[in-house]
Amino acid sequence: IIEAYSNAGGTGRLKEYAHDEEEIARERKYGKTASKLLTALHEVVGHASGLLNEGVGQPKETLKNYASTMEEGRADLVGLYYLMDPKLQELGLTDNWKELGMTAFDRYIRNGMVTQLIRIELGDDIEEDHMVNRQWVSAWVFEKGKDDNVIEKVVREGKTYYNINDYSKLRELFGQLLRETQRIKSEGDFKAAQDLVEGYGIKVDQELHAEVLERNKAFKTPPYSGFVNPVLLPETDAAGEITDIKLLQPETFVEQMLSYSGTYSFLN
Ligand SMILES: [Zn+2]
Repeated sequence: IIEAYSNAGGTGRLKEYAHDEEEIARERKYGKTASKLLTALHEVVGHASGLLNEGVGQPKETLKNYASTMEEGRADLVGLYYLMDPKLQELGLTDNWKELGMTAFDRYIRNGMVTQLIRIELGDDIEEDHMVNRQWVSAWVFEKGKDDNVIEKVVREGKTYYNINDYSKLRELFGQLLRETQRIKSEGDFKAAQDLVEGYGIKVDQELHAEVLERNKAFKTPPYSGFVNPVLLPETDAAGEITDIKLLQPETFVEQMLSYSGTYSFLN
């Protein structure tokens, strides 16, 4: 699925929204691996980690409507922090851990500050939990790194770009924000979660948004991709033991979504 996802669509948007040729070349070389590893680290190391302090309730009770975006942000930050690390090369996952990390940081900031805005309409707030967290993570590190010019806002011929000047400092900032989001989760600090999400994640710079949408008019591919997943059907023998798994491919997205909601809606 990840492979198909990263091969869908062209590179037109990359050229439009990336700051320079180096960034584009790096993305072409390391983008796929960076994306795969961020997903893996996010899901496996990110969501699987993060203990609560003794006596503190579940985030759904303590952080309420902010619990989900806080958890997604924390998982992203675990991934980002460990994506620029020699360990990844030691493990044989890349031939250049530094370039891989730089690529991961470029694409995260580019998306969080700019390209994800093509998914929403002018005047709307960001609402989807992942999009909200990608913005609060990006906007927070942008602001905290301002004095050191860690990430620079560049306007060239009326087009806005965010260019990373200092990747190691940016990694430190991701680390600081990871520590803070973990603290918020562990202590159930609702006020801090609210300040972070409302302060950095929801509101959109209207001028930038209009510009980004205008630039996007040149591209016809939709800003979202959806998946039609295969269905795994076990076959059992007389004793009820699984003997084989058959793969069925549903015909349409709609059919699959309706069957998911029919079968699994009780989970929510
Ligand atoms: Zn997640």
